[in-house]
Amino acid sequence: MKEKKEDNLMEKIVSLCKRRGFIFSGSEIYGGLGGTYDYGHFGLALKNNLKLYWWKKFVDNRRDMYGIDAAILMRQEVWQNAGHVANFVDPMVECEKCKEKFRTDQLENKNKCSVCGGNLIEAKKFNMMFETRVGASDDSSAISYLRPETAQGMFVNFKNTVDAFHPKLPFGMAQIGKAFRNEITPRDFIFRVREFEQMEIEYFVRAETWEKYFEYWKDEMLSWMEEVGIDMSKVHELEVEDVDRAHYSKRTVDFEFDYPFGRKELFGLAYRTDFDLKNHKLNYIDEENTDLPVGKAEKMIPHVIEPTFGVDRAVLALLLSSYCEEEKGEEIRSYLKFKPNIAPVICAVSPLLKNKIELIEYANIKVFAPLKAEFGRVMWDDNGNIGKRYRRQDEIGTPFCIVVDFETLENDTVTVRDRDTGEQERVKVEDLKKYIQEKIS
Ligand code: ATP
Repeated sequence: MKEKKEDNLMEKIVSLCKRRGFIFSGSEIYGGLGGTYDYGHFGLALKNNLKLYWWKKFVDNRRDMYGIDAAILMRQEVWQNAGHVANFVDPMVECEKCKEKFRTDQLENKNKCSVCGGNLIEAKKFNMMFETRVGASDDSSAISYLRPETAQGMFVNFKNTVDAFHPKLPFGMAQIGKAFRNEITPRDFIFRVREFEQMEIEYFVRAETWEKYFEYWKDEMLSWMEEVGIDMSKVHELEVEDVDRAHYSKRTVDFEFDYPFGRKELFGLAYRTDFDLKNHKLNYIDEENTDLPVGKAEKMIPHVIEPTFGVDRAVLALLLSSYCEEEKGEEIRSYLKFKPNIAPVICAVSPLLKNKIELIEYANIKVFAPLKAEFGRVMWDDNGNIGKRYRRQDEIGTPFCIVVDFETLENDTVTVRDRDTGEQERVKVEDLKKYIQEKIS
C-alpha cells in the first residue's frame, strides 16, 4: 500500500535532502547562518532542471519574450524611485521583556511573546533590504542594496531592450536570479530564507488590456506547475486584499500550497500598473496604436503584469509533492517520484557485481558511455549491493535503474527497474536510448 505520511513529513524531507546531497544548512561547520541554505549536487541538478524548463516554456518557446541577466548591485536611486527604500518593510513587534522580534502577520497571539510570555509592543519599521557599500568612500552616496526582487533589473533595462529589439506590445522581459531579504524570522527550511532565487516576468501591455493578460498569465503559471509535477490538489488561489498588497500592486493573486506547516504562498501574480516605468521616467512609443502619422506617434507608458516564481519554494513544493512511502513488510521504501525531465538523474547504470571485470567493462563501454553522451544526467552506481543501490536511487528520485548482469553477456539485454512500481523488465541494449527517450517525452 502506498501512502504519504503527513506527520513528520518536513523532518523526513530535510533529512533526506542532507543524506542524499540535495540541500545543506548554510555555513554548517560554523553552526549555520540563519536563513541560508547550500544546494548540493542533486539539489542543484533539480533546481537547474526547474529553471531550464521555465526558461524553455516562457522564453525559448515564445517570440515575445526578452531575457536579461542584470547586475545584483544597482544604484540606490533604483530602490528609492521603486519605493523600496520607504516601503519594503514588514510589520514587526518586539517583546518588552526579552526583546525578541516577530513579524506581526505570522503571529497567532499578537499580544504575548511566544518565547517568554512578555508583552509585545510595536517595534520601529524594519526595512528588509540588505544595505551595502559600493567602493571605498564612506559617504551616503556609496550606499547600495542587495536586490530584494529581480524585477527592478528588468525595469531599468526596459529602454535598452526596446532600443535593441524594437518589440511590439504586448511583450515581456524575463529574468532568473538571486534576491535577498533580511527576513525577521526565516523558517521552514527553504520556504523563508534570506537569500533565494526568483524566476520573474514583466509582461508589458496596453493599460486597457491588463485584465485579459492577468487571466492569461494565471493559466500559464498553473500549467507550468502541473507540467513540472507539483501536486495541483494542494495549490490554491488567493485574491490578496487591498491592505495586504505590495505598494506597487493594484491586483495580486497568490498561488498558495498546502505545506505541512500550513497553507502558504508558493508564487505570486501581480498587476503592477505603470508604477515602475513611471517612477523610473521611462516610456514607449506605440507606433501601432495611434492615428498620428508614422514618426509622430505619442509616448505612452505600458502597464505590467508580473508572474513571479520563487525557485526555492518550487523546489520545496516539488519535494513535498513527490515524496512517497511504501510499506514493504517491516521496512518502508521511500522514493521521490520526479518526472524524468525534472529528475536530477534520469537513469543509473550498475554492473551486478563490482568485482567482475567483464560486467564492469560491458556496463561502462556499452551502456553507461552512450547513455551519458545522450542524456547527460546518467549516474554510474556500483556502491554497495543492488538493494542498497535501488534504495539510494529511489531517494534521489531516479526513474530508471539499469543493471548489467550475466545474462547481458549472453544476449545483450539489461534489466531496467521502474522506480515507482519496482518492476523490472529486460530491454535490449541497442534499444535503451529509444526506451528512455520515449519515457522522457
Ligand atoms: P511572503 O508573503 O511569503 O513573504 P511575498 O509576498 O513577500 O512572500 P513576493 O514579494 O511576492 O513574496 O515574492 C515573489 C516570490 O518570491 C514569492 O511568491 C516566493 O515564491 C518567493 N519568495 C519571497 N520571499 C521569499 C523568501 N524569504 N524565501 C524564499 N522565497 C521567497
